[in-house]
Amino acid sequence: MTSYDLDAESAESDSILYIDLNAIRINYQLFCARTAPAECAACVKADAYGLGLERVAPILADAGCTTFFVAHVAEGVALRELLDSVRIFVLHGAWPGNERNLFDYRLTPVLNSLAQVNTWAAFARARGELIEAAIHIDSGMTRLGLDENDLKVFEADPSQLDGLSVVHVMSHLSCGDEQDDAMNQVQLERFQRLRRKLPAETASLAASAGLFLDPKFHLDMVRAGIALYGGRPTAREPNPMSEVARVRARILQVRDVDSPRTVGYGAAHKVAEPSRIATISVGYADGYARSLGSLGRACIEGIAVPVVGRVSMDLVTLDVSEVPRDKVVEGGFVDVIGGGINLDDVAQKAGTISYEILTRLGRRYRRVYLGSGS
Ligand SMILES: *Cc1c(COP(=O)(O)O)cnc(C)c1O
Repeated sequence: MTSYDLDAESAESDSILYIDLNAIRINYQLFCARTAPAECAACVKADAYGLGLERVAPILADAGCTTFFVAHVAEGVALRELLDSVRIFVLHGAWPGNERNLFDYRLTPVLNSLAQVNTWAAFARARGELIEAAIHIDSGMTRLGLDENDLKVFEADPSQLDGLSVVHVMSHLSCGDEQDDAMNQVQLERFQRLRRKLPAETASLAASAGLFLDPKFHLDMVRAGIALYGGRPTAREPNPMSEVARVRARILQVRDVDSPRTVGYGAAHKVAEPSRIATISVGYADGYARSLGSLGRACIEGIAVPVVGRVSMDLVTLDVSEVPRDKVVEGGFVDVIGGGINLDDVAQKAGTISYEILTRLGRRYRRVYLGSGS
């Protein structure tokens, strides 16, 4: 991670979220290099996985990304206002009522059902011009997408697609993060068979985990998300991505405990030996999962310390007995995510995945963007 402007850790902020734009650029470039000749598209839904669309998207575009995916139309509108000349796919597709926004902002809906195809095709025909669309085929997720029976409708009556220029056809892997899962091959074969029923220019199947899948899964494009933001694409391999997010919280108080006591709500942690407890300024309201109570770790000047007791809304308690006194200073900062505390380890301890940790980071941090990205 880029070196810090520690001046940012000034009197006014109790907790800071550093976002390394340079690392995002490096991750994008690494992803492209490893999946070439497939195109590397960037998924920036959910405010670029919680890290800030406004700052993240221009960096990706500058790094050479020309295709973006968002989930909601409103996200596409926000992205179009930032980037005029990229292609933006909207995963949730077209609905009666949102066609105008899709069209006006040059967003390409990913059509997920026959009804969506009909809506968008009818809009195109009413305008009397060809309009671009992507089509999502369900190859095994049973979530969004057209299935085999839906596709038969186009075989029987190709005119249903009149008005549409199908620029992309996609599907999504259920088990992409497990390289050896037989489901991957099943989905690839099903997708390859079904996509022939559509007149599409390009196809994609893999997300970040595609980095570790056989190139036959890359097709024309890989849709990268979490890897760009530093999460590990698969648990089976060392993470080649650079760390992007780092959360630091202020030490509000340090207490010497020299008689048996309990710490925090529910009196859940019992202190038997003399010890020192530091209370820091982060809590579940900041997205520090409550499930990390007695499980999480923080890092003070390179020394890992355990979270003790329950996580409160605004506070977490650490046992800092093992850290030299002069390093645990009231008013100082500790790392709670990143900076020695691995994001995926945090997620695993919390019983979740890095995606959820990032997208739940709260609104209360001072956000400091590092690196111009160049
Ligand atoms: C979110 C998303 C991705 C990106 O997934 P990652 O695992 O974060 O790389 C790709 N494709 C679709 C359809 C998605 O919804």
